[in-house]
Amino acid sequence: MNDCLFCKIIAGEIPSTKVYEDEYVYAFRDINPQAPVHVLVLPKEHICCADKIDESNSALVGKCFEAIAKIAAAEGLKNGYRVVNNCGEDGGQTVRHLHFHLLGGKKLPEGMA
Ligand code: AMP
Ligand code: ZN
Repeated sequence: MNDCLFCKIIAGEIPSTKVYEDEYVYAFRDINPQAPVHVLVLPKEHICCADKIDESNSALVGKCFEAIAKIAAAEGLKNGYRVVNNCGEDGGQTVRHLHFHLLGGKKLPEGMA
């Protein structure tokens, strides 16, 4: 049984505010936004985290970034944006389904860590 929160969101078992979907990618608004635009972009296939990306699934990362460009345009992020991935315990990853945070809509703080 798949107990992954984001797999349940993709399957529609848990509600989300969808902003984009295609064959490979699903994107929805973060429930606790850190910027005026805060969208989570993820492969539909369950990959737990960035250190499980390999040649069998890395094309899905490209699909996520194709989607990010489309979503950024649709959200009007003409002046730029930030993409963040948290990986594992030290990276602060709380949901173990690979996802990219798309953040924008304001001048973001300069610090990374
Ligand atoms: P991370 O800490 O990188 O694993 O990011 C997980 C993100 O998922 C956090 O920014 C949470 O606010 C967000 N999140 C958790 N549950 C939900 C949910 N049900 N709907 C939308 N976003 C969620
Ligand atoms: Zn999952």
